[in-house]
Amino acid sequence: MAVRVLILGGSFGGLAAARELRRAAGPDRVEITLIARDPRFTFIPSLPWVALGSRTLAQISFDLSETLRAQRITFAHETVLGIDGDHQVVSTDRAQYDYDFLVVATGHRSANEAVAGLGPGDGPGHSPMSPPETEELAAAVQGLLESPGPVVVGAAPGASCIGPAYELAFGLDHLLRSRRQRHLVPITFLTPEPFLGHLGMGGAGKIRQLLEGALEERDIAYRTSAAVTRISAGAVEVEGAGPIPSVLSIVIPPLAEVSAVAGSPGLANPKGFVPVDSRYRHPRLDGVYAVGVAVAMAPADETEVPVNFPKTGHMTEQMAVIAARDIVARVRGRDGEPAELSARCVMDMGDRGLYMSVDPVRPPRNRIPAVSEGRRWRLVKLGFERAYLWSARHGHRLPTALGW
Ligand SMILES: Cc1cc2nc3c(=O)[nH]c(=O)nc-3n(C[C@H](O)[C@H](O)[C@H](O)COP(=O)(O)OP(=O)(O)OC[C@H]3O[C@@H](n4cnc5c(N)ncnc54)[C@H](O)[C@@H]3O)c2cc1C
Repeated sequence: MAVRVLILGGSFGGLAAARELRRAAGPDRVEITLIARDPRFTFIPSLPWVALGSRTLAQISFDLSETLRAQRITFAHETVLGIDGDHQVVSTDRAQYDYDFLVVATGHRSANEAVAGLGPGDGPGHSPMSPPETEELAAAVQGLLESPGPVVVGAAPGASCIGPAYELAFGLDHLLRSRRQRHLVPITFLTPEPFLGHLGMGGAGKIRQLLEGALEERDIAYRTSAAVTRISAGAVEVEGAGPIPSVLSIVIPPLAEVSAVAGSPGLANPKGFVPVDSRYRHPRLDGVYAVGVAVAMAPADETEVPVNFPKTGHMTEQMAVIAARDIVARVRGRDGEPAELSARCVMDMGDRGLYMSVDPVRPPRNRIPAVSEGRRWRLVKLGFERAYLWSARHGHRLPTALGW
């Protein structure tokens, strides 16, 4: 009988796990089913470009069903409601699935409620965390260009995905300069990080110095250890400081639990994230794995205002490959290889890029981080987006070290 592998989530973690399983299983009989709530894969790192008007959502996404069919992977466009890890059953809004191995790659819920007024829907604040929110943000950016005024860009206490906040601050600066409107728009960058470039991983190499120089050079004011508490129509409030005027407020929220995962008995920690070992196996539930943002990871260090550990797309793919190889090894009666995570990332700065390679991600590090700034890195980021989308759509894997 074929081994049944169920993958929950159709983004970086789910797609990479499915692809690697299909590749590594070879002629072994492995039946792979991927369940996802969204019918399309979206290249999330390009959402800041959608916000700034240089991409549409259609340009950075593709239909999952066709891609998976070509790889002999069954796609179920369904919403997972619960996971019974003791009886190896997943329930969705349409069916129940038995599994031998399960990979949880359901990502996060954006905790917009952490900052009063962080919309969309319930307040004037914006964030680029999902395609619909980014479309609203893109409309707000167009509004700013028609009616310029002060802007605040930043991240909330407890955020872990701070890179896109920097990208949006740099991107807005560049857009406004190219339209000769920059003098009409004071930009303030607010971050819970104790210093620029901490990025939830304790900083690395000269990222701090490069980011401080880059913000100062562009006349972007910044505050570190800033706890954003409220966004109103004309201002952003920060704990212990007066309101900062803002007609466009963009704040990255903390990441919170996905209810189907948090509510499944014995699966998640109290915050709703899944504990794993070094092969991304659940410590108690046999056959259960978790990868990507769904994984529980402790903060790198204690900071005055909380900052959480970053779980990037690059790390998510590494986790997915380790988990998939471990499953295939177990099907063959062995164990897969654990591996330490590294981080490679290119931050878009509007006219340039900032490249960081940090290995391992958590300090102390036995290798000196490679950090570099220049126009070529922006070209690398642009090229990586195209190459990644093409490869993922056609069932190929780009070397994870390439770009991000
Ligand atoms: C604006 C932005 C920019 C970023 N830029 C970069 C970057 O430049 N480089 C980088 O490395 N990383 C970047 N990241 C981080 C990267 O996007 C994440 O690490 C990555 O998306 C995590 O992938 P994932 O598969 O774990 O989860 P997600 O991408 O969150 O996907 C979760 C999947 O699970 C599905 N799902 C959720 N709940 C259910 C349910 N109940 N039932 C069925 N399906 C469900 C969703 O439909 C989705 O398919 C960025 C993130 C953001 C928000």
